Amino acid sequence: MRRFDGKTLLVATHNAGKLEEFEQIMTPLGIAVTSAKAHSLPEPEETGTSFVENARLKAHAAAKATGLPALADDSGLEVAALGGAPGVYTADWAETLQGRDFVMAMEKTHTMLVKAGAAEPWHARFCCTLVLAWPDGHDEVFEGHVEGTLVWPRRGVDGHGYDPMFQPNGETRTFAQMRAEEKNALSHRGAAIKALMQGCFA
Ligand code: IMP
Repeated sequence: MRRFDGKTLLVATHNAGKLEEFEQIMTPLGIAVTSAKAHSLPEPEETGTSFVENARLKAHAAAKATGLPALADDSGLEVAALGGAPGVYTADWAETLQGRDFVMAMEKTHTMLVKAGAAEPWHARFCCTLVLAWPDGHDEVFEGHVEGTLVWPRRGVDGHGYDPMFQPNGETRTFAQMRAEEKNALSHRGAAIKALMQGCFA
């Protein structure tokens, strides 16, 4: 496994929330974080059919364009009774002409479960894949998952995306009813980041 021994890490995202999350982790380690947006990089089209393909696409494009090691993440929700959908299309299900609407995306997910006659509990999991890519083409891949059930009506106002309908196993609250630290300790992204830190930054 190749260790990160540089000074600056490029986080290959245009998402301010994801960038902030990585800055909070990297800055105390003495690593300067810069973003795809700061380098005016175009957002590559996510043409992959898996999380790892899409994360690789984003990380390698950014590393090649800037000459810096680049970290990208791709994540999504897999619902068992829907054959793993929305999966890599999780963000797409929220797309409208006016931007992303996650209330609509959650309603769509719920409607599909009801139409499919799926018996409760509705098993689901969040997945996160992180790829750290170097300009010479080498990369390291880390994954995190969290298993849970989808609840309806949705509950809670914190978090983002599909958080209000996802209740991790062993909990009575959804991700949207938890504080950020509580969610991070259980979440797919938290697990993937932990593996990345142990693999490349320890
Ligand atoms: P992408 O990784 O930016 O392509 O998008 C992944 C999508 O999955 C996001 O837009 C969210 O809708 C959803 N998602 C990923 N992680 C979470 C999470 O922790 N909570 C809620 N939704 C999530």
